[in-house]
Amino acid sequence: MSPPIKLSLKGKASTVANTCKIGYYRALATDGSCSKCPLNSYSTREGSTSCVCDKGYFRSETDPASMPCTRPPSAPAHLISNVNETSVNLEWSPPRTTGGRQDLTYNVVCKRCGPDGRRCQACGNGVHFSPQQLSLKGNKVSINELQAHTNYTFEVWAVNGVSPQSPGPEQAVSVTVTTNQAAPSPVSSIQAKDITRHTISLAWQPPDRANGVILEYEVKYYEKDQNERSYRIIKTSSRNTDIKGLTPLTSYVFHVRARTAAGYGEFSGPFEFMTNSVPAPIIGDGTNSTVLLVSVVGSVVLLLILISAFVISRRRNKYSKAKQDSDEEKHLHQGVRIYVDPFTYEDPNQAVREFAKEIDASCIKIEKVIGIGEFGEVCSGRLKMPGKREICVAIKTLKAGYTDKQRRDFLSEASIMGQFDHPNIIHLEGVVTKCKPVMIITEYMENGSLDAFLRKNDGRFTVIQLVGILRGIASGMKYLSDMSYVHRDLAARNILVNSNLVCKVSDFGMSRVLEDDPEAAYT
Ligand code: AMP
Repeated sequence: MSPPIKLSLKGKASTVANTCKIGYYRALATDGSCSKCPLNSYSTREGSTSCVCDKGYFRSETDPASMPCTRPPSAPAHLISNVNETSVNLEWSPPRTTGGRQDLTYNVVCKRCGPDGRRCQACGNGVHFSPQQLSLKGNKVSINELQAHTNYTFEVWAVNGVSPQSPGPEQAVSVTVTTNQAAPSPVSSIQAKDITRHTISLAWQPPDRANGVILEYEVKYYEKDQNERSYRIIKTSSRNTDIKGLTPLTSYVFHVRARTAAGYGEFSGPFEFMTNSVPAPIIGDGTNSTVLLVSVVGSVVLLLILISAFVISRRRNKYSKAKQDSDEEKHLHQGVRIYVDPFTYEDPNQAVREFAKEIDASCIKIEKVIGIGEFGEVCSGRLKMPGKREICVAIKTLKAGYTDKQRRDFLSEASIMGQFDHPNIIHLEGVVTKCKPVMIITEYMENGSLDAFLRKNDGRFTVIQLVGILRGIASGMKYLSDMSYVHRDLAARNILVNSNLVCKVSDFGMSRVLEDDPEAAYT
């Protein structure tokens, strides 16, 4: 082998020869000189046209031969997750090593897992990533439209141009989270199936994302020309309802929202429908001109009568409607529901009738005693209302031999609870007052009171779960405050926890305690 002839002393690739030395290469025969193998590469024989990458180093298809060989990046660092109902925000720091390249991006893999956090499968198309799932340039992503109460594992992969050549778990970091409950998405459209002078029959589709079983719908409506803050509410468990008692020839605005165990979703946008002015014409097939004439004349007369009746009835209605509305609007102040103290009722039974549904005792199956309340035993059991599915409930009983005052105090808790409607406030199913024992039926909270639950599971919760607990309680208390209700006894023993770790504020009997104890003071 002939040694290379030195042509020039300038530059590192300063040799020209028919063949390049080991450790050098010449990509094209027309290249004047041999070049030293770039960083992280080598040539083992003379006359190489390229250099081979060191073990663990690679070249992408578009990397020029003169570029050093590079490595995939290490995993992103410090991955932090933040769950907000059914959205998750992920944030991370850049990887420790970028592998010597400038084309670093991130890919996010979403897996939905079983209740034990295992048996995971790809999330599929329904999940939305913002700004995107793949080739992220920034260090964060928001993942939306996940399912409520579900375990998810997210992997964040750091990738560069040579990652496909050496994919490995060391380039990814993962986190497992559990989404919270979420209210249903808004109802998107409402149709008027039938319109008469006094009635509008509405129908709607369920929300796109129910996030649970829909327990009921709430229809809010008001006259278009009236103040929107003075509205009426109708609740129904079906997807249609007849809104009756409307004023003829008047435009009404309707909004519908759905409720699940997680609470109410947002109201739909406004949908406007106008009541009719005249009854549906009773004309024949159009061939009988006499019938037609009589009908037309009849309609005109009827219209005149209706208009005058309408003017009179509007005046009268203003009075009777105001009276009729007074009950309903008593607790509607500027569109916000305000709590009504049941003790302000002359007849406390009236407050119970107004705020708590009477349940037939035959619908309730008591199963076992789970606690002792101030007025008697607290049991778990089942409630099966006609046409509804059976649910687990807690049953508070009023022990035998009660005085009138004890009965009133016991039921006042139901009158208070029945005014609330929030995912973090214990939900009242109803009361049994027509037979004995008198009972208050509420939703069942599988994990009992928070203080005992935390003691029993000390150290087992993640910070995210604990913050979720706090967030729920705060949300419930904010709702009570918005309703102008002062709880006066917020304590872990008065928070109940369900199987999904959702915390709900309970025990609305504090006003009673203060009343009973003349020494008690509260600031
Ligand atoms: P209370 O009279 O509300 O203080 O209830 C007494 C005890 O009964 C509580 O400490 C709970 O352990 C239990 N309890 C009350 N309500 C419920 C409920 N809705 N679900 C499960 N346990 C309950």
